[in-house]
Amino acid sequence: MSGQFSRRDFFKVAGASSAIAVTAPAAFAGDIPEKWRAPKCTQWSWEKPVQPIPESEIKKVVETDVVVIGAGLAGVAAALGAREEGAEVTLIEKTKSWGARGGHITAFGSKVQAELGVKIDYAEIVRRLISWGQGRMDERLLWMFAKKSGACMDWAIDMCAKNDVKVTLWEGYYKGPTYTEYPVTHFFYNKDVSLDYTYGNSTGIGNDVLVPAMLKEAEKKGVKTYFRMPAVQFVRGRNGDIEAVIAGRKGNFTKFAARRGVIIASGCYASNEEMRKRWAPYSLRVDAQIYFPAKTNTGDCHIMALQAGGAMQKLEDHAATVHLEAGAASYGFLHVNALGERFKNEDVNTQSKSCTKELQPHGIAWTVYDADWVEQVKSQVDSNLAGGLFYGQMWQPWGSGWNKDVEIATQAQHIKDGKVVVANSVKELAEKMGVPADRLEKTIARYNELCAKGHDDDFGKRKVLMTPVLKAPFYAGRLVSSLLAMSGGLHTDPSLHVLDAEDRPIGKLFVCGAAAGDYFGSGDYPTICPGMNHGRALTFGRLAGILAAGGSIDKVPDLKM
Ligand SMILES: Cc1cc2nc3c(=O)[nH]c(=O)nc-3n(C[C@H](O)[C@H](O)[C@H](O)COP(=O)(O)OP(=O)(O)OC[C@H]3O[C@@H](n4cnc5c(N)ncnc54)[C@H](O)[C@@H]3O)c2cc1C
Repeated sequence: MSGQFSRRDFFKVAGASSAIAVTAPAAFAGDIPEKWRAPKCTQWSWEKPVQPIPESEIKKVVETDVVVIGAGLAGVAAALGAREEGAEVTLIEKTKSWGARGGHITAFGSKVQAELGVKIDYAEIVRRLISWGQGRMDERLLWMFAKKSGACMDWAIDMCAKNDVKVTLWEGYYKGPTYTEYPVTHFFYNKDVSLDYTYGNSTGIGNDVLVPAMLKEAEKKGVKTYFRMPAVQFVRGRNGDIEAVIAGRKGNFTKFAARRGVIIASGCYASNEEMRKRWAPYSLRVDAQIYFPAKTNTGDCHIMALQAGGAMQKLEDHAATVHLEAGAASYGFLHVNALGERFKNEDVNTQSKSCTKELQPHGIAWTVYDADWVEQVKSQVDSNLAGGLFYGQMWQPWGSGWNKDVEIATQAQHIKDGKVVVANSVKELAEKMGVPADRLEKTIARYNELCAKGHDDDFGKRKVLMTPVLKAPFYAGRLVSSLLAMSGGLHTDPSLHVLDAEDRPIGKLFVCGAAAGDYFGSGDYPTICPGMNHGRALTFGRLAGILAAGGSIDKVPDLKM
């Protein structure tokens, strides 16, 4: 089980790393870090031959219809989906409990959206998602999501209502004219909780309430759960189908024999550096990598599937979910790199900012602002610059506004923690940032000139967001990026089977959630639908459960688009 963290709240962990201490840009001290270099030609550890676990080491056999591996959002949805088809379901999880983090969840056409009168052209969103990924995905999966996610969200909402868990639509999405997100993001919360998010502290909100509520339902409906039970090897039968999964620890293995199917719902591989080196070397550039519970997402079942004849999605690099720390360290003010130079239009989402930051010298960038920052942040919010860049919007329910007090309190904490530096002159600020003072002074002078002119000749930023840096004290927040999830994975198709390298399904082996591939194009995670990782975990989790149990997904009503 996890603490309460949003996908855009990772500063506590990131801040713990001395490599990103704000006063001394450590990356400048030496050579390009080894991990950023191109991988050497090597034999990857998963390519080494594996021996089948001998029958003598198997101490117990459990027979069931469907085995689900992983008790995250995708796994509990899969277990429920299969159980509701009448299958006998066994859910195995390697840790002692369920896993969750964050809580923004995409769905198209849910009852919440209908009740709130939200009308969107969902087909247009799919087309934008496809173009975001340069068309390099299995489009069929995106249309499947578009048609089924609303019904799957409604299914989760009904289940949660029985446990006093409520849902709303997130209003903190980005609504700028050139970069626009959609009101498709749902989140769950316990009734009577505060939705304030002062410096990342909140309880009873997000997937920490959704996942246990769904697991409770699953267990009530008869799903059998085994915790501290890591899956380690698939057993493939003579006809090539997956017959069983072996789990547990050496000397005490259990064989879970599945009559109908095995579902991989074991999450992504972001905590496996070797896999990132192989499939997403770009992701190694981030300042931090975090997950809750920590290091559970090590790609175990990807490797097991590869060893059983499956393949990874064909498209490389895999997409990675990389976000900035929110709040004082990533507002939409002037951004400068470690040379003290401006390098972008700051009117963009957190994912794009993280990615362009990594491309700057030594991956370092700052946001610079002045004494009038609170009013200026308000004008940024009023101009629809949003999408989780502000703390005061993190759990902003539909119909409410930006929370100024949360923003002020969080900025003060950022200063205390040394993530934002403060100075009485630009020269002093530059010293604290470790950037050349003369360059910073020039950059600020140019920016102020453009602000006065009311036109950003250099990067085309909207006039309303061009606020000068004039009045002491001056502030600089270090942009800190964190890898939250890998969003590429095992080769799959709309039957949700794992496929081999020749696109043939591996019999009885299914995949859903972040372990699955072919959904996102290369490199970037599409934030235009905030919460797409969770959205597909919920939707494809349920659908994989139905399919593995032998049911038809036609019974999940299609959204009319
Ligand atoms: C701080 C943070 C916030 C985030 N916020 C958001 C957000 O708001 N919206 C969003 O869309 N995405 C968010 N993400 C990403 C998102 O949480 C994940 O991509 C998503 O939860 C994956 O769900 P899943 O069910 O596929 O996998 P997981 O939730 O990772 O569940 C997989 C489970 O499988 C278990 N497991 C792994 N290997 C084995 C094995 N060998 N045997 C048995 N069990 C195994 C793991 O222990 C785990 O419990 C966030 C990520 C982070 C780090």
